Parts: sequence; C-alpha cells; structure tokens
Amino acid sequence: MNIANHHVVRLHYSVSEAGGEAIESSRGREPLAVLIGHQALIPGLEEALLGRAAGDRFEVTVAPGKAYGERRPGLVQRIPRKHFKDHRLQVGATVVVPTQMGPRPVTVEKIGLSVVDVDLNHPMAGKTLVFDVEVLEVREATAEERDHGHVHGEGGVQH
Ligand code: ZN
Repeated sequence: MNIANHHVVRLHYSVSEAGGEAIESSRGREPLAVLIGHQALIPGLEEALLGRAAGDRFEVTVAPGKAYGERRPGLVQRIPRKHFKDHRLQVGATVVVPTQMGPRPVTVEKIGLSVVDVDLNHPMAGKTLVFDVEVLEVREATAEERDHGHVHGEGGVQH
C-alpha cells in the first residue's frame, strides 16, 4: 500500500541539522505513528512520505520553509524564574515553559535573578533538516481516526 492522505503510517526517523549531528531519533523507542494529511508532520516530511511503502528507507533534506519556518529575530519573552524550578537553567538549553502562546519549547537566552529571557523561536526554526526515515507499516485510517484527526492504538492516542 502506497502512502496517501488518511493513511496511518508507523515509522522510525532520525533528524539532524544538515551537516551536523543527530538532533533527535525515534530509534531505540516506540516508532512514531502518524495520520497523513492532518498536519501531524512538518510539510516537507509528509510530502516525502507520499507514495512510499512499508519497508522503504530514505533520506530527505527539508528546507526551513517546509520544516519549522524561518527564525524570527526579536521573539523574546521574559518569564518569571519560578516557572523554571524543575529545570537546570543554562543558557542555550531547550526547555518547555508556559508562554503567551501556550506551553512550548523555548531556548534560554539570558538568566536573571528573578526572570529568564527565552527565545520563542522553535529550536529547529531556520534550520535545514535531514531526516532518515524508515517506513514500518502503512494502513488505512479507521473512520474514527479520520474524525478525530489522530491515530488510535499502538503509538497513538489511547481513549
Ligand atoms: Zn481519538
């Protein structure tokens, strides 16, 4: 079965910055299960998956415009330090914190006595990413999964 919209795909992936070290990988843990055509993946990766089948392994290079977007300068927010009590604070570290746009991963830019300046750009914004993808399984989504817009069962939402 070739991957198309409304298919559920289970896959393993590694992602690195072009010419750099691996940033993250699903290998060694549960594969990722995604519903195609529901914005579950960055556009460049979803496009590269269309037409592939179980057993395919490929590499795809995705420019920022089809990944996490360009880095926007000046996207800094000042957050009370108490929100970081569970984190080891370090400049350059990525942490998930409550922001005006909801909880999101941010990069610590400056640490003050009572406040911390964070960069709200997605940590992978502005980066050209290289994905190494292995398609493990492809199946039709159930009517319920299409309704909900996410995968149920293994690797998906349990409810
Ligand atoms: Zn559901």
